[in-house]
Amino acid sequence: MRRCFVLPLFLLLSACAQGVFSVQSPEDWLGDASGAEPTAQTFQQVSQAVGAEARKQCLKQPRRQNCEFRILVDLNPRAPANAYQTLDENGQPVIVFTRSMIRSAQNADELAFVMGHEAAHHVLGHIARQSENASASAAEFGRREQLRGGDAAAIEEAQKLGAKVGVQAYLKDFELEADQLGTIITYNAGYNPLVGAKFFDRIPDPGDKFLGTHPPNEQRVQIVLETAAQLGLAQ
Ligand SMILES: [Zn+2]
Repeated sequence: MRRCFVLPLFLLLSACAQGVFSVQSPEDWLGDASGAEPTAQTFQQVSQAVGAEARKQCLKQPRRQNCEFRILVDLNPRAPANAYQTLDENGQPVIVFTRSMIRSAQNADELAFVMGHEAAHHVLGHIARQSENASASAAEFGRREQLRGGDAAAIEEAQKLGAKVGVQAYLKDFELEADQLGTIITYNAGYNPLVGAKFFDRIPDPGDKFLGTHPPNEQRVQIVLETAAQLGLAQ
């Protein structure tokens, strides 16, 4: 099962966006009338509080960017548990939760934590920074291949490899940055990030693979604990 919460950012725009069936704002979404989705109201409250706090954090950033978050529900009942951040065609930040993701959260704090993490990716400009890293690394790899006397095809291959390396180099850092700011957003929005981070206990741990896309869960929990301690939050 793929979850964008644990997927690398560069996959967010491709792999995850394809899964969107039809989306709706939390205010219009009432969940399942049979009561199978008791968290619909909670999700609406979390969306309002986290969305407002994410906007505040976003406006504080030196990088000029659109801070009007849209938080949506993917209505496809068969979509796997997933939450991700992307930009629409106008550069407006969009955070999408699938219904099974909402159901898989055990409380409002977990929902807030996942939402805070996704919002933090946008606040920190990760999509733009990732594409800058990819371009810079592609240019560097291409230049080196040119110096070695490579032909046009070899230079193009080198640039492609460079773009991949440039993205890969910062993926783990970006995740930890998003966990750190996500903890602050969660807390300021009125939720407990220490309770919210229990979500990590239920997602697969990628371990510390050298070329892995995500840091080990232990490292992520550590960042949450440190940030929470700085906020004066007792464990
Ligand atoms: Zn992330």
